[in-house]
Amino acid sequence: MTVNPDSLTIASALDGLAKKDFTAVELTEACIKAMQAARPLNAVITETPDKALEMAKAADARRSKGEAGLLDGIPLAIKDLFATEGVLTTAASHILDGFKPAYESTATANLWKAGAVMLGKLNLDEFAMGSSNETSYYGPVVNPWRAKDGTKLVPGGSSGGSAAAVSAGFALGATGTDTGGSIRQPASLCGITGIKPTYGRVSRWGIVAFASSLDQAGPMTRTVRDSALMLQAMAGFDPKDSTSVDRPVPDYVANLEGGVKGMRIGIPREYRMDGMDAEITTLWEQGKQWLKEAGAEIVDINLPHTHYALATYYIVAPAEASSNLARYDGVRFGLRVPGKDLTEMYENTRGEGFGREVQRRIMIGTYVLSAGYYDAYYTKAQKVRTLIRKDFEQAFQRVDAILTPTAPNAAFPIGMKNDDPVTMYLNDVFTVPTSLAGLPGMSVPAGLNSEGLPLGLQLIGKPFEEAQLLRLGRSLEKVANYTAKPFHWWES
Ligand code: GLN
Repeated sequence: MTVNPDSLTIASALDGLAKKDFTAVELTEACIKAMQAARPLNAVITETPDKALEMAKAADARRSKGEAGLLDGIPLAIKDLFATEGVLTTAASHILDGFKPAYESTATANLWKAGAVMLGKLNLDEFAMGSSNETSYYGPVVNPWRAKDGTKLVPGGSSGGSAAAVSAGFALGATGTDTGGSIRQPASLCGITGIKPTYGRVSRWGIVAFASSLDQAGPMTRTVRDSALMLQAMAGFDPKDSTSVDRPVPDYVANLEGGVKGMRIGIPREYRMDGMDAEITTLWEQGKQWLKEAGAEIVDINLPHTHYALATYYIVAPAEASSNLARYDGVRFGLRVPGKDLTEMYENTRGEGFGREVQRRIMIGTYVLSAGYYDAYYTKAQKVRTLIRKDFEQAFQRVDAILTPTAPNAAFPIGMKNDDPVTMYLNDVFTVPTSLAGLPGMSVPAGLNSEGLPLGLQLIGKPFEEAQLLRLGRSLEKVANYTAKPFHWWES
């Protein structure tokens, strides 16, 4: 039977596999074909078709013996920030040229343990620094959604390849990472679902580090149910990550259809920002209305320190990045550009190996950590971070979850915001506070703007309440009834 992966979800593919409508090998072959046809999107850095077919064969064998795992035979694609054993892992940086890890990240190992199949490694912003996937050494990713006049748009970032792969329909799901919004913002710009779990829920072990106190991995999928399934496999305690949390992973799927009756949903006043796209404000209002009609109670709340979140993030994240990226010295792995002595070799390697945005972050980071400025910037930012977390703690005494827009704009043309880093950073204005507070947040596609481009709404939950958040997301998905898909222009 011919399989069309674009018409499937993880859940419906699992059904199809169970009913023997198709085999994992047939499904994987169809995904590989679709991935190759989608090369104009530049979403993939390394395709791994042979590995995929080998894994699919093993999945079929397990299924025939009645030993299928949670995601058995499901083709997924992996953000190229996750170390994959023996497979090129680049972080979309020149400095990791040729790096093939001898180990597998815990999050991906968990997916393979559940039976999933790896299609390839996905493009991203270099070291996950960016909001448009334009900082990649491997070139920008093109959003499957185009403007009405055919202008090519960014998919968001940093998990731009992941969002594009799922939106274009060649991967049934993808892994993403989110430090300040990199799962939720691209999900919004590409019309898919993505959840950033609570900090500590998914192991960071084997994921190339950006800002260690913020980094968190999660799934990007077409539906909320699929996100629940993927998160189920990815999450869990890992002794190899000291910040991984030792609590059991609840069944995320069991109560997904439980509805929102009686739930209290907070609407933060401070998220009504000047200059925000009017259509986004309208969609947010609509979202409120939808949840009210579904039986939730809407409550106005205050998150008074929201205004400082972006500035705080752009001190904390670069500070941690500058420290994490010190390891790329040309000695142990990746690129080496020779020099007349060791110092010059370091300088040449880092000068050539890191792109402009990464260099900017390292410079900001080392500046805010330097002796004379440490207290004025870094210590101050840590204090404000605490205030932001306390805002949420207070709000969560009155509400169960919070509804906001995911991003202040829809997908924008490639190149449009490249010359102005501050405008680019503004894309994360709604996602960064959640990251600073370590809370779970998800983006659910909720509508299209007048250009016909997808827009998402963000739901923020209490720590480790992913099950409740997913249930809420499922309710929003139902009432929003978002079914739009991009036209497959890249195939013609
Ligand atoms: N866009 C933000 C940044 O550039 C967030 C990136 C991320 O979450 N990885 O830092």
